[in-house]
Amino acid sequence: MKKLSILLLVLLGVLTYGFAQETNSSRLSKVVIDPGHGGDKPGAKGRKSLEKDINLSVSLKLGELIKNHLPDVKVVYTRTKDVDVDLIKRSQLANKEKADIFISIHCNAAKNPYANGTETFVMGLAKTQANIEAAKKENADILTEANYAENYDGFDPNSPESNIFFALYQNAYLEQSLSLADKIQKHFTSNTKLFDRGVKQAPYLVLYKTSVPAVLTEIGFISNEKEEKYLNTEKGQYEIAASIFQAIYSYKNKIEGRRMDTPHIADLIPHKVIKDEEEKIRMEKEKEKRKREEEEKLKAEQEKTKDTTSVEGETNEVIYRVQIFVDKNKISSNDSRLKGLDDVWMYFDNKIWKYTSGNFKSFSQANEYRNKLKGKGYKDAFVVIFYKNERITLDKAKEIEQNNNK
Ligand SMILES: [Zn+2]
Repeated sequence: MKKLSILLLVLLGVLTYGFAQETNSSRLSKVVIDPGHGGDKPGAKGRKSLEKDINLSVSLKLGELIKNHLPDVKVVYTRTKDVDVDLIKRSQLANKEKADIFISIHCNAAKNPYANGTETFVMGLAKTQANIEAAKKENADILTEANYAENYDGFDPNSPESNIFFALYQNAYLEQSLSLADKIQKHFTSNTKLFDRGVKQAPYLVLYKTSVPAVLTEIGFISNEKEEKYLNTEKGQYEIAASIFQAIYSYKNKIEGRRMDTPHIADLIPHKVIKDEEEKIRMEKEKEKRKREEEEKLKAEQEKTKDTTSVEGETNEVIYRVQIFVDKNKISSNDSRLKGLDDVWMYFDNKIWKYTSGNFKSFSQANEYRNKLKGKGYKDAFVVIFYKNERITLDKAKEIEQNNNK
């Protein structure tokens, strides 16, 4: 009996530990910003970028916005460089600093390349398999941490029961965390074109050990080509950072009972960033226009060559030639590569000029010539077949020849 009551006392102690810590919830004067991953833990990988780099850039922009527009709020980062920091140390920093809020910044990834949007998590039991998987991916980082079993109370991220592990967990800051998460999603949605996946709960270890109001925000999918591109632009990163900043600002208003207008997004993004983005879009349009013009020019040239090179005219014969090399440019007939070759003929295909030699009535004749050319150093020579100046396959050639012989 005595044993049981001690156990109950201990349990009660564990469950209320979080509540006892809740002392400074009526002000917001310190924020811990946690750029996810770092160093040899890159997080999710995109086509051109790594999650850890985007997380850091957005985090630094958020910190800069807080310093400039909320000077009474102190900013502490878990990392400011490309280094790996154990998840346990990130939580411990927030606790040690007695931060008022903790914000972990991450990018999402999925096998489905069209998965998109933003979502913000608070610590809790995941309700869907997708959310369990999401947390699992982020939690896997602890596997290389020393003493991870000890630091996370025996938690094993690989265990199928990893979600159940947190069944007894009580989030002492659930309400505040949810309020902040809600505001972040709301501002993402009004400032960006990113889809709103909502506020969710999942057992993220970096939140589990943080005993202050804490959220983990996934700012978009690095596995989605369009979102990866957006997340790598200065403007995109500022829009995300400014959205989180506005959420912090209005959260501060709420808990401190302030009546301050949340700064407008246009006043949070540096003018130069917007101007540079506009210039980039203008340049891209210009480049596209030039590309279109170039393509039209090449097409016209191709049409012209079709007329001038069809020396044989439109015959019903299949013609066998030997392709010897290709060149981006139309070369001169004096070019050394054409020296001593008979019946040189070129055609334009796939945006390049392809040069051939010989003019035969059968594959075997052409192939014999090909072997001769190989001996002369045209190592890549091979037989190509034409009918009415269009390249055709050997099967098609046989079919035409059969019909011609009827
Ligand atoms: Zn991550």
